[in-house]
Amino acid sequence: KVRVRFAPSPTGALHIGGVRTALYNYLFARQQGGDLIFRIEDTDSNRFVPGAEEYILESFAWLGIQFDEGVSFGGNHGPYRQSERRDIYKKYVQILLDNGKAYIAFDTPEELEAKRNEVSNFQYDASTRLSMTNSLTLSADRVQELISEGKQYVVRFKIEPNEDVCVHDLIRGDVVINSSILDDKVLYKSADELPTYHLANIVDDHLMEVSHVIRGEEWLPSAPLHVLLYRAFGWEDTMPEFAHLPLLLKPEGNGKLSKRDGDRLGFPVFPLEWKDPKTGDVSSGYREAGYLPEALINFLALLGWNPGNDQELMSMQELVELFDLNRCSKAGAKFDYKKGIWFNHQYIQKKSNEDVATLFLPVLKAHGVEAPFEKVATIVGMMKERVSFVSELWDVCDFFFVAPTEYDEKTVKKRWKEDSAKCMLELADVLEAIEDFSIEGQEKVVMDWIAAKGYHTGNIMNAFRLTLVGEGKGPHMFDISWVLGKEETLSRMKRAVE
Ligand code: GLU
Repeated sequence: KVRVRFAPSPTGALHIGGVRTALYNYLFARQQGGDLIFRIEDTDSNRFVPGAEEYILESFAWLGIQFDEGVSFGGNHGPYRQSERRDIYKKYVQILLDNGKAYIAFDTPEELEAKRNEVSNFQYDASTRLSMTNSLTLSADRVQELISEGKQYVVRFKIEPNEDVCVHDLIRGDVVINSSILDDKVLYKSADELPTYHLANIVDDHLMEVSHVIRGEEWLPSAPLHVLLYRAFGWEDTMPEFAHLPLLLKPEGNGKLSKRDGDRLGFPVFPLEWKDPKTGDVSSGYREAGYLPEALINFLALLGWNPGNDQELMSMQELVELFDLNRCSKAGAKFDYKKGIWFNHQYIQKKSNEDVATLFLPVLKAHGVEAPFEKVATIVGMMKERVSFVSELWDVCDFFFVAPTEYDEKTVKKRWKEDSAKCMLELADVLEAIEDFSIEGQEKVVMDWIAAKGYHTGNIMNAFRLTLVGEGKGPHMFDISWVLGKEETLSRMKRAVE
């Protein structure tokens, strides 16, 4: 059975690249009828940030990425928070010590530092470990003595040198590295009685029966070590498949996307607004910036994957059907944030006028406007084509809700003719007499009147717009007067010529 996991470390806000990783795991799990697990990798207590776990969960709830198991979701393979699995890791560290795949090392940080100063490019490995203070160079009794004296130690993985280790990656094919370039990684620290990422990750993926590890490219260098750990435990037969996703690159393509790029170019790199509990700094989020979750999902899905044709707009359901790890690219994906804005525009058009109106109501309220819902929906239907964000609707349609009190000087200068006032009073009379105040109803009568009088259509319409809008913007004139209704239209016209 397909079982995948998203395993963040709660060290702060979830980066947008992490959201993409979680999304690909989700799409793959859904498509394969598998399970998606939410695991918290919090064995590095120095980097723990309060609130990060809650933030991550809230982000996924907003985005519609659902988990089947894990922290806050339950399941049969728990606990899912690594800090609650200490005893499990201790047991597995002991297994490696017992079968000679790992050893205890007492070298203090100062001793290691001294060694690094003495030997350039010092690496703790097969070529150096016999010159260090560890259970390979001390007698068993001495090791026990030191431990009972309370001397702190770490457990290191004993990596055999000169072996080509092959990682089969579903996106990259076979990646081969020689074990001699790896150091004897620390797997466990007595100081906090906690394992390091590598050990906890492998033990958990095994015990949680994870079938596919889908994660960012930054973990590819660790993958050979992970393969060796599976081997050391004798778990090769059930070792998960690996897929390392391409990096997200700066919009310009020169290097890895960072938070600073967002600050520099004005786009969020986090799904939700994040307040750093230490510094108090607030970073913007996609949700607060007015992105629709479905637009963000669609945008992210295409950063590193494509459906094999030029289809761009895909719902979550379509993505689940089309997603294919074999179609993920090896090359990094440029974070074209402008494309994200385009997606938001598209999704606003896709949404019903009523749904967009519902999102627009708080904006109206913030401007002190209360209007019948149906009217708001009608206006939204006329104007949404012009915006990429719901908040931008106010700027393009404020005049529907608030009568102009001032008239834009430049427009007046250009468009208000000598006879405009007279014409507007005449037009007001014409409009007043119209029984069918529909768009078509007005258009017919007014056009006939213009023709009969021999007026210039452009001049009349420009002046009419000024009276209702106060400036030169807005949709088709009779759309405006129809929405405003006869009474409001006439009152605005009269006020304008006073
Ligand atoms: N805790 C790791 C992270 O924060 C998980 C990496 C993995 O998926 O193996 O990304």
